[in-house]
Amino acid sequence: MGRIVGLVNQKGGVGKTTTAINLSACLALEGLKVLLVDCDPQANASSGVGIPRDDDRHSIYDVLMELAPAEQVILPTEIETLFLLPGSKNLTGANIELAPAQDRALRLRKALDPIKDKYDMILLDCPPALDLLTVNVLAAANSLIVTMQAEYFALEGISELISTLERVRQAYNPEAKIEGVLLTMYDDRTNLAQQVTQTLRQHFKEQLFKTVIPRNIRLAEAPSHGKPVALYDPRSRGTEAYFELANEYLARNGIESPRAKKRAEELAIAASVERESRKPAVRFWPYS
Ligand code: ATP
Ligand code: MG
Repeated sequence: MGRIVGLVNQKGGVGKTTTAINLSACLALEGLKVLLVDCDPQANASSGVGIPRDDDRHSIYDVLMELAPAEQVILPTEIETLFLLPGSKNLTGANIELAPAQDRALRLRKALDPIKDKYDMILLDCPPALDLLTVNVLAAANSLIVTMQAEYFALEGISELISTLERVRQAYNPEAKIEGVLLTMYDDRTNLAQQVTQTLRQHFKEQLFKTVIPRNIRLAEAPSHGKPVALYDPRSRGTEAYFELANEYLARNGIESPRAKKRAEELAIAASVERESRKPAVRFWPYS
């Protein structure tokens, strides 16, 4: 399958990284093989899955500069089927260092090409800018998820994002599209959140995910423990919301996860055992 999905919004602090970490983790816990690629110099996605920043280790920077192939840089995480291509602070320089290269927008796409079929899903976390790193994500992705907060200025900057995407589509990647818009840090007690949601639904229609991610303190705490929320607090509302998002994403794309398949098989076995147990026992003459 090897679907590549970018988490984008040039606005800062709208839940891109939290979604990259926790959607990756929930998809991996559903049994898919997932690669999380940290394309942000802040490298928060890397530390959020337990790989603290280490500027001496190979990172996505070396991959973009063609100093190392992606598969040599990928690291395992605490979740067996979740892997990380780590970010690093050096990425700040990549914007300038890549500028003279003719294929500067296509480095990530070229790097992921040889490995993409080894994974079911590849999630790309973006920096909060429409810079060369984000352009590399737009050029590499099959589709994009835009994360947003339900606030008055939510749509600010979206037209710029869409026109950048349009230019990238024409030049490099005609199939790239916005496949979903996700509301994060949602507080349904405010009228404003409800009004903004209505406006966003009119604007994005079916693109808006039905799942909304509530404001949940566990989601904010988990990264400081180097864990996705599903490992940090499996019973939290944050965990529940990101599993719901993972399942909505899979259902939208007609994908049955290995865990869902197993659950269906177990239910079928349980139903047949139940049917068998309800049949009257056969008794042979002479009855004892
Ligand atoms: P940047 O643009 O700087 O990369 P971002 O879009 O990746 O930011 P995050 O880092 O995911 O945004 O979130 C911003 C802050 O809000 C973080 O401190 C994060 O822990 C917190 N946060 C994100 N989502 C939630 C949530 N649903 N509930 C509570 N806190 C959250
Ligand atoms: Mg981020």
